[in-house]
Amino acid sequence: MIIILKETTASAMQARLVAQFGAKTEIFTHDNRIALQGVNPDELPADVLAAADEVITDVPAAVQSSRLLHPEDTIIKTPHSVIGGADLVMMAGPCSVESAEHVMAMAKVAKQGGATVVRGGAFKPRTSPYSFQGLGETGLQYLRAAADANGLDMITEVMDDEHVEMVAKYTDIFQIGARNMQNFSLLKAVGQTNIPVALKRGMSATIDDVLNAAEYIAAGGNHQIMLLERGIRTFDNKYTRNTFDLGAVPVLQQLTHYPVIVDPSHAVGEWDLVTPMAMAGVAASASGMIVEIHDDPTHALSDGPQALKPKTYLKMAKQAFQLHDLMQTWD
Ligand code: PEP
Ligand code: MN
Repeated sequence: MIIILKETTASAMQARLVAQFGAKTEIFTHDNRIALQGVNPDELPADVLAAADEVITDVPAAVQSSRLLHPEDTIIKTPHSVIGGADLVMMAGPCSVESAEHVMAMAKVAKQGGATVVRGGAFKPRTSPYSFQGLGETGLQYLRAAADANGLDMITEVMDDEHVEMVAKYTDIFQIGARNMQNFSLLKAVGQTNIPVALKRGMSATIDDVLNAAEYIAAGGNHQIMLLERGIRTFDNKYTRNTFDLGAVPVLQQLTHYPVIVDPSHAVGEWDLVTPMAMAGVAASASGMIVEIHDDPTHALSDGPQALKPKTYLKMAKQAFQLHDLMQTWD
């Protein structure tokens, strides 16, 4: 249940409800709202009911993620980016950090295209244990250096709760990969930090699964969460790696206050399909996108087929910002 309280008496009523029900249930407050799990409206004292503008009983389990508790957008500020505001945030870089020189060069390209965040995996969740697994902490150091040299934020995947502390020493944003979306010990571990988390939708995760996964992070006290739509598995993966669930963008934006970012690269898996889907993500009002770039995709250590070469990326990024700017002029 969520109670929307009259502004004037909200804090007094919230304190009263916490005193009465706090020992028995989880309670969350936001401005003049309060959420009480497992309490029925008929248990509410008369003066609380009198001080309520509305009592909402149909409340999702992922209550902290819900706009019913937190109606306004969450805006995440990192040193070089504002994620979830009016701007379109561009995040770009190679799938994997391959070497100090390579990631430095790719960060420069990312920046040229208007990115404020450089990506790169140092711990890679590969389907085969014999595929390149990433450079580990050394890769984090290379990516940090590339981000700093170019005035960018850094995003990188953390795969294991035991690595959270170490990755936190380097990164501005944790990426939780699709395969780990329901790794609850990992979600709890990043929830204990104050570093923003980009949570990727699992390849067979429903919208409610994503929101409940985000709730694990919020439950630990970390509310700097963004959600990434990166394509889901459907019945046909012959022409695209995954099915880009574009409808998830406005659906998530309706349900939750967290910024929604699109990842057209993993969604389609083929470089020549990335630009149209990136544009579709902007048209769907995503708060940003994350794209993979590589100057020599055939020799990339991971995800070469979906990497945009610098020239293609620069063109795509220009068009994406143009479309975003145009959309800002619409009534
Ligand atoms: C990645 O970002 O390189 C990655 C492995 O993504 P996902 O978890 O979406 O597959
Ligand atoms: Mn990748």
